[in-house]
Amino acid sequence: MGIPCLLVALIGSLLGQPAPEPPPAHAVVLVMLDGLRWQEVFGGADERLLTPRFAVDQNDRARLLERFGGPTAEARRAALMPRLWSRIARDGQAFGDRLGPEPAPARVRNAFNVSYPGYSEVFCGFADDRIKDNRKVMNPNVTVFEWLNGHRPFAGRVAAFGGWDVFPFIFNAERCGFPVDDGCSPVTFGVVNDRIDTVNRLRADTPYRWGPGAPFDALVYHAAREWIRLNRPRVVFLGLGETDEWAHEGRYGDYLRAAHRADALIADLWDAMQAIDEYRGRTAFILTCDHGRGGGDAAGAAPEQWRDHNNKTPGAEQTWIAAFGSGVRPAGVRSGLAEVGQDQIAATLAALLGRDYNAAQPKAGPPLPGVVGGGPARRPED
Ligand SMILES: [Zn+2]
Repeated sequence: MGIPCLLVALIGSLLGQPAPEPPPAHAVVLVMLDGLRWQEVFGGADERLLTPRFAVDQNDRARLLERFGGPTAEARRAALMPRLWSRIARDGQAFGDRLGPEPAPARVRNAFNVSYPGYSEVFCGFADDRIKDNRKVMNPNVTVFEWLNGHRPFAGRVAAFGGWDVFPFIFNAERCGFPVDDGCSPVTFGVVNDRIDTVNRLRADTPYRWGPGAPFDALVYHAAREWIRLNRPRVVFLGLGETDEWAHEGRYGDYLRAAHRADALIADLWDAMQAIDEYRGRTAFILTCDHGRGGGDAAGAAPEQWRDHNNKTPGAEQTWIAAFGSGVRPAGVRSGLAEVGQDQIAATLAALLGRDYNAAQPKAGPPLPGVVGGGPARRPED
């Protein structure tokens, strides 16, 4: 706690008044980067993986080191995801750092460390043992998005965009009552325009590297960005999948470049929304992943296990969570905390909008500690 915060807290307590709570956010965007490890988010590029074994030749290694290398974890992560880290320093915070002397680890609570169980846990706020794999079955559980869409003033102002044709099942598009874009089909819901039409044509005319159902992130993002501008949703999901796909291929350089591009897309969406009166100064972003991957510094994991994630991969349960913007307490990299779970994100999202999700869904994890609300919080020293 800094001196000014101490003073405010002291004056507040002398007057018998708690520090004023900031107003809830008007809009929240949850962005998920599929299978992006906390190791890269907090530590940047891992030089040990820049090898031909992981599709990085000598020339590419030199290029990647020039772009993403650095003497410290802080320098490397700022090179890999510069916009995320400048936002965290300015008005945000991040869980999941296991590198420092006082870690603040984050994890999945489900037992499977694969995508559908991870997304469902994040969206619903609890793990469900019936959801074990990525099979296309309609989610029996209600997500925080569906819950919010069932209540004014959020009804009709919820939308999901994700680069995977399983998202309509995870959100249960048959029941949920809001549009769920899978990044592959044309966007035909809500107000659309020529730009969205162009993205629709690009979706139809671009080949799939990873099979139908898993498009490149640009094809998801640019439709989402334009649709948000035209339709003004207040609760948004954006799912970017390339990080996971390049990692499964074992292409470490492409995995890093995908993370770097995602960072730029997220910053672009932030800027686009800040340019709109309705969103300016009233919007919060939450960023996370659906599962970790093996390797890195996880006990018992071999470095090559960075490619994999399942219930037999040591470390794949380890994740990260970041938040910034309206209603988020600025606290930088969190440290010295008990492990938090991705089952706490749904209630955090609702709390940023001033809503108590746990009252409606007692199975959901509580909001992440110290993210939402006023009161003293450590200011970053930047
Ligand atoms: Zn995944």
